Amino acid sequence: MAAPVDHNTATAPEESRQPSAHDLDVLSRQLGRPVRDVVEIPARCVCGNPLVAATAPRLSNGTPFPTTFYLTHPVITSAVSRLEAAGLMNEMNDRLTADESLAAAYRAAHEAYLAARAEIGARTGIGGVPEIDGVSAGGMPTRVKCLHVLVGHSLAAGQGVNPLGDEAIAAIAEWWTADRCYCDGAWDTGGEAPSRDLSRHGPQGLPAIVGRPAPVRKTTTEAGE
Ligand SMILES: [Zn+2]
Repeated sequence: MAAPVDHNTATAPEESRQPSAHDLDVLSRQLGRPVRDVVEIPARCVCGNPLVAATAPRLSNGTPFPTTFYLTHPVITSAVSRLEAAGLMNEMNDRLTADESLAAAYRAAHEAYLAARAEIGARTGIGGVPEIDGVSAGGMPTRVKCLHVLVGHSLAAGQGVNPLGDEAIAAIAEWWTADRCYCDGAWDTGGEAPSRDLSRHGPQGLPAIVGRPAPVRKTTTEAGE
């Protein structure tokens, strides 16, 4: 499938999808936890750093994993959190109920998400994952439950695939736009990348890229959570 060149999006070209060791290090720093089962980098900053990680539809521990596109860039994730805090999801849900053409476009985004996941499954040799057939993420196809998921999808797919993800990207323009690098100072670049989970679990509401529980390492700070 020859994708048209679209200079308005951060969608990574085919040859740069493969995650390098450096990409995985950056992802761990962006998220504050070690990444697992990242199979592609579907969107990059103009500087080359990952914006979105694509996770295998089946994790290496066997767990089916529906959230294929995970937004990782801290500047974008916090900007999207601001939209969520301001109530944009409620407004979108109301419009999905009232506007049949928006609802149809959103259902098409859901289908595109499933198709993109199937392509990743095929490219990576993982194949189909029947347990999550028809299950996408973020509330699709009928609701908006996580804007980060929709933005991750829009950045991965390019403009014109997920209407609500596209809207959210437009709405964060005062904090992030695809044409500029916002990486400087956005995460800790000193020392070793995180080898244990230092994050409060992510804005996308799932254990996400951490594929399996860490071996017993109880600390007093974690005990109360
Ligand atoms: Zn950058």
